Amino acid sequence: MNIQGKIILKKGREQSIERFHPWIFSGGIQSKEGDLPDGCWVEIQNYKKKTLGYGHYQNGSIAIRVLSFGDEAIPGDFWKQRISKALRARHSSGLPTTQTNAFRLIHGEGDGLPGLIVDIYDGVAVVQAHDAGMHLDRAAIAKGLDEVFEKSLKAIYYKSHGTLPGQMRETHVDEYLSGMGAVPHVVVENGNKFLVDWEEGQKTGFFLDQRENRRLLGDFSKGKKVLNTFCYTGGFSVYALAAGADLVHSVDASEKAIDLTRKNLEINGFNSSVHKCFAQDTFDFLKEDREDYDVIVLDPPAFAKHRDARHQAVKGYQRLNTEAMKAIKPGGIIFTFSCSQVVDRQLFYDTIVSSAIHAGRQIKVLHHLSQPADHPVSIFHPEGEYLKGLVLYVE
Ligand code: SAH
Repeated sequence: MNIQGKIILKKGREQSIERFHPWIFSGGIQSKEGDLPDGCWVEIQNYKKKTLGYGHYQNGSIAIRVLSFGDEAIPGDFWKQRISKALRARHSSGLPTTQTNAFRLIHGEGDGLPGLIVDIYDGVAVVQAHDAGMHLDRAAIAKGLDEVFEKSLKAIYYKSHGTLPGQMRETHVDEYLSGMGAVPHVVVENGNKFLVDWEEGQKTGFFLDQRENRRLLGDFSKGKKVLNTFCYTGGFSVYALAAGADLVHSVDASEKAIDLTRKNLEINGFNSSVHKCFAQDTFDFLKEDREDYDVIVLDPPAFAKHRDARHQAVKGYQRLNTEAMKAIKPGGIIFTFSCSQVVDRQLFYDTIVSSAIHAGRQIKVLHHLSQPADHPVSIFHPEGEYLKGLVLYVE
């Protein structure tokens, strides 16, 4: 590992790294030694020049993403060690299986690798960098993946066009780092089939983070009329029908998403008499006079990507949930989610309370939902918990 320079922290600013928080903000830096291009590795020292860790440097508000804590030198097989540690953690929660062969292998800070996402789709790894450092290390990451999987990966696809910072994004073209995959590719999740297109699809191609929540929806779906809004690939729709729903309506603003939903319902053997798809805005859809639904799923995209957008986002969640609460049958169930990192669990809960007040309905909370075990959260980095959900019983 080529450590290109040093960062010396201001006195008193070493506390967060000593407590294993993986970000160092630019305001905490006393001085820099060496030529430090974006994405290079740096050694981090306190004001007494004691080594506190190593990480990727990037000119910006978060100046360093810490990849190793303490003074131990970075080993030559760093990536192999870290990837195999992450895989062991997945094995500990029973992933993958013959029934679930799509899972998240690396979840950024939760796996001690801030800025890196790796999802595995039936033996194809999709690697996504969110910062310059991971981008520059992509070949070493791919090598580490091949070593850990002993060359059994069918392909490694590098998909970072939408996630890299500024200049890098403009010049970067997504590509296979090894092998070739044919898209769309069929994966299984809890025994249900899904087509995944990591080349053209949103994020890495599939929302793996809803796996457990989709399964829970099954418990509420037998013999019911289910509305799945913001359906994307139709994940919740497939689970509802597999559990014996009478009828499922799927809504997404994107035609492409609706097309994928249709195909996924088809490959799971559901014919069009039990489901209907709508390429429409969810807010408009809910306003129209609709069937009485027994179950409604609300899984919108992140309404706020930054703190400045939080207030608007909260208003969006409030409006959406109020509409659903007004529309649902007495005794109905709402699965409601927020994946905005800047809207924390308490704020989301308070927003739902406010929706209930506006809707004027009696509501009980049946479940508090989150992200699954392959999207772990470092206890020292609570910001990593981004997916929040509630199952509501509307009287
Ligand atoms: N529930 C999905 C993931 C949802 S991602 C799953 O389990 O996989 C969010 C989706 O919302 C995207 O597919 C996007 O096209 C869609 N979307 C965004 N704004 C929308 C709107 N106003 N109305 C309907 N769909 C919308």
